[in-house]
Amino acid sequence: ADSAEAMAKYYDEDEGTSAKEQAHKSFQSLQLSRPILKALSALNYSLPTPIQSASIPIALLGRDIVAGAVTGSGKTAAYMIPIIERLLYKPTKISKTRVIVLTPTRELAIQVADVGRKLGQFVQNLTFGLAVGGLNLRQQEQELKKRPDIVIATPGRLIDHIRNSPSFSVDGVEIVIMDEADRMLEEGFEKEMQEIVELLPTKRQTMLFSATMSSSIKQLITWSLQKPVRIMIDPPK
Ligand code: ADP
Ligand code: MG
Repeated sequence: ADSAEAMAKYYDEDEGTSAKEQAHKSFQSLQLSRPILKALSALNYSLPTPIQSASIPIALLGRDIVAGAVTGSGKTAAYMIPIIERLLYKPTKISKTRVIVLTPTRELAIQVADVGRKLGQFVQNLTFGLAVGGLNLRQQEQELKKRPDIVIATPGRLIDHIRNSPSFSVDGVEIVIMDEADRMLEEGFEKEMQEIVELLPTKRQTMLFSATMSSSIKQLITWSLQKPVRIMIDPPK
């Protein structure tokens, strides 16, 4: 009920033309596959939030995105929906990790994985894995060996696994998400982020989400994204 109320605020308040226009789109009009529409209704997400309406069509085109929107605006589904959709378009025969979601903390990674699993609950053979500090390294390695489609990671632990888990690889990664990029930089992950970007395939889609835009974020954007589409949603007044 809380989240529905938070969302309702978006539609009640005047947020400028573009956000308002976007807000009236439905999930159906975004041309999503049935398993995703089914999951959205199971989650009681009846209308996309402004960041979701604006990001989903662009993300589906494969473009890089820089998205700014306040906390609570629905950024997780804004990237998770198009990720799942794009994996569905192009199924692969061999299992490999195709998506990396970077988050600043273990808690956030666990939350993102939970949202992902719920949005992907009606998609067959969609697998998630975690690479985060504080959880047993060997156990995680066993999980990552199976090459889950979507790995949600904190930067330090991801590097650990790339270096030390021989059966885990990021060579097949197609999509990279930097969630809460501002917080990742605040937590001092700049070096790790740089190293990760260097290890990833250059041909990939990268989407960066942040509640704030600082000069260090702008630098991160410059060296990790290609011709990104910028989507800034004004905070509700
Ligand atoms: P952010 O990452 O921008 O802080 P979240 O992705 O954590 O926001 O979402 C905030 C809350 O809004 C969550 O409780 C989520 O379940 C809910 N939510 C997201 N999208 C929708 C939607 N389209 N309709 C209803 N609730 C939503
Ligand atoms: Mg978030």
